[in-house]
Amino acid sequence: MRGFIDSHAHLADPAFDADRDEVIARARGAGAEGILCIGESIAAAARARSIAQSHRGFIWHTAGLHPHDAASFDAARDISAIRAELAAGAVAVGECGLDYHYDNSPREQQRAAFAAQLALAGEHDVPVVVHTRDAEHDTIAMLRDAAAQRVRGVLHCYTGSHALAEIALAAGWFVSFSGIVTFRKWTDDALLRLVPDDRILAESDSPYLAPVPNRGKRNEPAWVAHTVAQLARVRGSDPEAMAATVATNARRLFNLAPVA
Ligand SMILES: [Zn+2]
Repeated sequence: MRGFIDSHAHLADPAFDADRDEVIARARGAGAEGILCIGESIAAAARARSIAQSHRGFIWHTAGLHPHDAASFDAARDISAIRAELAAGAVAVGECGLDYHYDNSPREQQRAAFAAQLALAGEHDVPVVVHTRDAEHDTIAMLRDAAAQRVRGVLHCYTGSHALAEIALAAGWFVSFSGIVTFRKWTDDALLRLVPDDRILAESDSPYLAPVPNRGKRNEPAWVAHTVAQLARVRGSDPEAMAATVATNARRLFNLAPVA
């Protein structure tokens, strides 16, 4: 399979410290034409930037603060750090959002950090990469407010309700699927068919969530090919066409330069 883009990989994670270059080479070998390297903290964003700078035109980076770490959010310090990453080439704000499943940070602080990052994305006219889990009511309210300010983004690793997906799509947002859709326990193929061809993305969320047949191993961007193949099967599409679809959509959302 040629030509997919992994729209969400934590390549800056220490899980890749020993063999990051080989992981990136395997992604190219598997047919990837790009990887979004997610900066889910200020420190991770700086590492993601240097990875992207070493692989220009193939890897791009993002900068944000994950809802798990919202308790440590300091608006003055963190928003200016994310702003500096945008000035240095980050293509999106995030990963940010709301996670009421783990509640690793107080919900009020999660909302404050998310709202500040949505506002920053609006101010800079860049997309947002959003993590949302068991927080649909507040996600819908905040997404609607952001969309009214012309903010666009992606619900990443999406496994939520059809209702939230439909609201996001109506607001012009994208929906990204991970290896979870290949798991035996996955039952919501209707969700995979609900997202139109011009709004669907695929991602590894590596090092987490390796798709079948590699489930349980450290995940890597090369294996997005399995997720793209599953999306194609469920949607009645050709795998190569599905790869091209997710790549085109990632380029459009994140405003990535076309292939050289
Ligand atoms: Zn992530």
